[in-house]
Amino acid sequence: MLYGVLSHQGAYILHENMLRKLGRDVLGVFTAEDINKIDALIIPGGESTTLLKFFERLDLMNITRQRIIDGMPVLGTCAGIILLTRDVANNNQDTLGVLDISIERMGYGRQVNSFEAKIEMPVSSEKPFNGIFIRAPRIIRVGEDVEIIAKLIDDPVAVRSGKIWGTTFHPELTNDNRFHKMFIKAAEG
Ligand code: GLN
Repeated sequence: MLYGVLSHQGAYILHENMLRKLGRDVLGVFTAEDINKIDALIIPGGESTTLLKFFERLDLMNITRQRIIDGMPVLGTCAGIILLTRDVANNNQDTLGVLDISIERMGYGRQVNSFEAKIEMPVSSEKPFNGIFIRAPRIIRVGEDVEIIAKLIDDPVAVRSGKIWGTTFHPELTNDNRFHKMFIKAAEG
């Protein structure tokens, strides 16, 4: 099983490190050819509009969408979840549209650029996770087939729909690898 981490921009190195620590093989993904080599994909945080420019320039949109529709597991964190989402409520930007949620970019306000908060993990009833939110998007609608994996008070902050997973925070910025472990288990299950 080869994990790809989209490596154009943003917080990709820490995702790679976490996957390697968990004993997984990792490829930094740049091109459509790379997308065809991997078995699962992580789309990191960064800036969704910048990621989109790379997607357009390198013609990655259709092939990535098709691989996900055909069952390739994918985890999007922060800007990564914005790319996966069905629609961005407050900005007219393209998405892969594979995860049936609606999202608001910078949904926690521009003035609060960044915060840390304990988030609850109702699915696993495990101890809370330290969520690091950086200019984070806010999930404002969750479709019927989408399960909420973690919440910040009333807001969903981690969701999954089959093998399509997304978080609005940055699990790779902590030493807590529970999210990556859960995703790997789902991806390889
Ligand atoms: N607000 C950023 C965006 O719209 C996401 C921030 C992040 O990934 N840390 O892409």
